[in-house]
Amino acid sequence: MSRPIQASLDLQALRHNLQVVRQAAPGSRVWSVVKANAYGHGIDRIWQALGTTDGFAMLNLEEAILLRERGWKGPILMLEGFFHADELEVFDQYRLTTSVHSNWQLKALQNARLHAPLDIYVKVNSGMNRLGFLPDRISSVWQQLRAMHNVGDMTLMSHFSVAEKPDGIEEAMLRVEQAAEGLNCPRSLCNSAATLWHPEAHFDWVRPGIILYGASPSGQWHDVATSGLRPVMTLKSHIIGIQPLKAGERVGYGGRYQAHQEQRIGIVACGYGDGYPRVAPTGTPVMVEGVRTQTLGTVSMDMLAVDLTPCPQAGIGAEVELWGSEIKIDDVAAAAGTVGYELMCALAPRVPVVTLS
Ligand SMILES: *Cc1c(COP(=O)(O)O)cnc(C)c1O
Repeated sequence: MSRPIQASLDLQALRHNLQVVRQAAPGSRVWSVVKANAYGHGIDRIWQALGTTDGFAMLNLEEAILLRERGWKGPILMLEGFFHADELEVFDQYRLTTSVHSNWQLKALQNARLHAPLDIYVKVNSGMNRLGFLPDRISSVWQQLRAMHNVGDMTLMSHFSVAEKPDGIEEAMLRVEQAAEGLNCPRSLCNSAATLWHPEAHFDWVRPGIILYGASPSGQWHDVATSGLRPVMTLKSHIIGIQPLKAGERVGYGGRYQAHQEQRIGIVACGYGDGYPRVAPTGTPVMVEGVRTQTLGTVSMDMLAVDLTPCPQAGIGAEVELWGSEIKIDDVAAAAGTVGYELMCALAPRVPVVTLS
């Protein structure tokens, strides 16, 4: 046996979460977002469980080519488009839909020699100010693209910066309306938060990512607690050491935790070298043999300490859930000052991953 840490992926939960999306947006088609290697889950491991999706969205060509080589024949949307004109050859070969967000891409599309027209997502900057044309440029960009023999179907796309708030997309929607005026075109606007909370923005295609993996787009699990989402990734390990502390003794690097009384602690084979956040402070939730408890002191590269006061029976070999169906990744992330997205993406390559179908 090797080091006892392991991540498991519940593919039933993934299928179920896609159904939650379908129910939330019954009139829309779904781009399942699998960028960043499926939010750290591994595209190769999970894409088939999402096989009833209408399309996959991502941004690395390697990931798109992998999907094609594995046999996915449906649409693939490259969320950031092509990064260099040369890549259009690959877009052509693998039949990828590209977003178009900058002027230089218009010229590149105009000049490319393709076997068949590419479908295009024209990106409007609705206030995020990352990528996209301003609303008042869209009409002219649209006419230019429409006239190109290299361009097939066209969809208007935008991305919300504050979709987790009830009134967070109003301003952005006005800008999208301004951009879309007179175009009578299909639209794709919604990330996970908007898919769940802004049905008025669903339109033709939604683009959920994080909710497919069973975490909250707001970073707060309680915001999705009644949505029926199920966490896909569980990170587990075992206790590999026990320390009975006397009052006044300290734990870990920097001695940042100090016992106030006698206390039994467990040492877990999991650290920041596995992707567990080093900044998670004392008090971050963790589960030992089914009992909720907390971390103590500084997280090391390969280990962390947990309080065994609520579970006095737990000894060497006791199972520890770092996050998963019981300890929500959002709660660990919140303790560490980040969001579930970042923890998923940071799962380290040294952690063995199993899939449960
Ligand atoms: C990442 C991304 C999404 C999905 O976002 P979630 O918050 O994970 O649902 C949708 N659209 C674009 C353009 C993205 O970059």
